[in-house]
Amino acid sequence: MATSFIDKARITVKAGNGGNGVVAFHREKYVAAGGPDGGDGGRGGSIILQVDDNLSTLMDFRYKRKYAAPNGMDGQSSRKSGKDGADLIIRVPRGTLVRDAETNEIIKDMSGPEPFVLCRGGRGGWGNTHFATPTRQVPRFAKAGLPGESHDVILELKLLADVGLIGFPNVGKSTLLSVVSKAQPKIANYHFTTLFPNLGVVWVDEGISFVMADIPGIIEGASEGAGLGHDFLRHIDRCRLLVHVVDVSGSEGRDPVADFDAICEELKQYSPELAERPQIVAANKVDITEDRSNLERLRAHVEGKGYSLLGISAAAHQGTRQLVGKVAEMLSTLPPVTVYEPEYVPRPEVVDTSVPLDIHRADDGTWLVEGPWLQRLMGNINFSDYESRMYFDRTLRESGLFQQLEERGIQDGDTVSMYDFEFEYQR
Ligand code: GDP
Ligand code: MG
Repeated sequence: MATSFIDKARITVKAGNGGNGVVAFHREKYVAAGGPDGGDGGRGGSIILQVDDNLSTLMDFRYKRKYAAPNGMDGQSSRKSGKDGADLIIRVPRGTLVRDAETNEIIKDMSGPEPFVLCRGGRGGWGNTHFATPTRQVPRFAKAGLPGESHDVILELKLLADVGLIGFPNVGKSTLLSVVSKAQPKIANYHFTTLFPNLGVVWVDEGISFVMADIPGIIEGASEGAGLGHDFLRHIDRCRLLVHVVDVSGSEGRDPVADFDAICEELKQYSPELAERPQIVAANKVDITEDRSNLERLRAHVEGKGYSLLGISAAAHQGTRQLVGKVAEMLSTLPPVTVYEPEYVPRPEVVDTSVPLDIHRADDGTWLVEGPWLQRLMGNINFSDYESRMYFDRTLRESGLFQQLEERGIQDGDTVSMYDFEFEYQR
């Protein structure tokens, strides 16, 4: 028996480091002095997220919390580049929100088909072939690879459903879903089916369909002692419409008006916004409802609040077609399912730039700059992105590097070389 439904997980992901460039010299029988031929390091593998519709929970992430993509291989002699590390593809259920573990900001809503690069692999270092120039005949230096990005993230599943079924346990939500939708949710393979939200596609007419989610009752989980509390409610956050199922049969001695209000109150406590979401009330089990006064009392109550009510029997397939028609009609007037915009802005890791960098001058006059913080900084810089480049420039400036180079006598037009990056110095 599962104790909890896994729809939230914290994981650590780490992209691969770039391989190191290599210092090597060409040796051949008939070549008196071989040239530099050290190859570049390979790129580290990236961490990529991809939606997989065969998954419906974040269960797998309970057992495995650390994900690392392989490093790039080091370069080899004969100009052979090191092999790139393979990307690591992490599959997630559709509707998974990826949040920064520290700030809780949304990094990405995995709702669409496109893969998402969560962490970029480190770039490989340059081998010494790169540094062979007419003036630099025997380059003895090669560059280390750059570290891959890493991130602690929270995965949070928020189903992508147009319609959410809400209501007390045993009112007939699951029955309704199974009657109106043909899809048998994959989740049925589990023994503890009722602990999982089920998704079903409801076909209305040619080209018209919607997705309905059977959310185990709000109070249901708590009453089963599963400690689910409000956990399930996050799955209806995105729903455009709620179908509120109420048992009007009186067979369990329930008062439908009190039930209706109790669920609305729960919703409100979880999210006032959700409590405002449009609802259709499905008064269920009319097939065994002997005393119609309960139904009429509920109708007056909910219509007074502006909701429509339909009497149905999910089990006897009575009124279910009309309900589906009404849902489709309302959906056609409502905004689409929410896709959350990213909130997270990558903040480059704070590096302690007060530690002096290692500056030395190659025989051909190139200024070689290296150091642990520079390596880490560069691993986080995306040189094809303007903002990122500006940040890099600012950090170098503030670290006092340019001043130090000036003091050592750097001239305009000199080459400065750092890892896989070279530039011409201009004051
Ligand atoms: P859920 O907990 O809300 O998902 O409720 P279920 O769909 O599991 O139904 C609970 C019980 O009510 C089951 O025994 C169903 O067969 C029964 N039930 C559901 N709908 C109807 C209905 O329209 N009429 C009658 N008589 N029983 C129903
Ligand atoms: Mg159920």
